[in-house]
Amino acid sequence: MALVNAHTHLELSDQGHLLPEPSAEFTAWVPGVIRAGMQRTPAAIRDACEAGIAELLAAGTTHVGDISATGISVELLARSGLKGIVWLEVLGATMERGLARLAHVKSYVNELREQAASSPIHIGATLHAPYSLHPDLWEPALRWIEAEALPLCVHLAESPGEWALLTEGTGPFRAFEEKLGLPALPCPRMTPVEYLESKGVLGFRPLLVHMVQVTDNDIQRVARSGATVVHCPRSNARLECGRMPLEKYLAAGVPVLLGTDSRASSPSLSVWDEAEFAMKLHEGLVTAEVVEEMAQDEGLFKDVGEW
Ligand SMILES: [Zn+2]
Repeated sequence: MALVNAHTHLELSDQGHLLPEPSAEFTAWVPGVIRAGMQRTPAAIRDACEAGIAELLAAGTTHVGDISATGISVELLARSGLKGIVWLEVLGATMERGLARLAHVKSYVNELREQAASSPIHIGATLHAPYSLHPDLWEPALRWIEAEALPLCVHLAESPGEWALLTEGTGPFRAFEEKLGLPALPCPRMTPVEYLESKGVLGFRPLLVHMVQVTDNDIQRVARSGATVVHCPRSNARLECGRMPLEKYLAAGVPVLLGTDSRASSPSLSVWDEAEFAMKLHEGLVTAEVVEEMAQDEGLFKDVGEW
């Protein structure tokens, strides 16, 4: 039996102290995660990945989708017996930082492919999120992803703050940008899904993670694109992101998987824990059987060779 955790950040498996109790607004939580990324050594990140993999295996996981800022999880996952995809993270609020990050990922993607070559681990890329990418970075990054035929993953429509930033140019992300000395993202006056469609991302049939802040029209756009969505309800609750309209995605025929997200926003890496939370959250609208099927849907990973 397959058990699929479609969204983790194994590098953050030692960051449980960042888990908000009981919850925190998204932009209040992010700086701690950024600091954690900057302060740790490769050895510490490796230990965190190993701890995360051990937790996945103990939970009975067979397939994993992991986001990696360093590529360190690839070699460890390739030896773990788990199947899955590691999406290498590209982001940058300025073009200078974003292009440097893209060049860095390009420089080690082949080495990581070799590390994973004789294993059921595939290499993909993630363009992190609309609020963390300069608007002009999408184009060169997508051309590279296209040329390399990499599966693509994006965090999208997660927090009310992201919605306010993209639709009105307001909200907590403005103070966040100022605090971190980042340039203000020009407001496209679009929903997060419309914004990604305008950048040509939906044509890549991406894996879209979170997808809470959406309109009914957005859901139809996602359905037409053939994209798959990942539902992380415990992380969404901890980061005050709201309730993902799971029943609407399912009614529209969008494939939905479950993901725990990282230990910095989720109390465990067990997809059964995630499924239990989802069953309560959507009780009366989505049956327990459907949620169980989501936890066991390995279709994304069977498709990966064809991308
Ligand atoms: Zn994530």
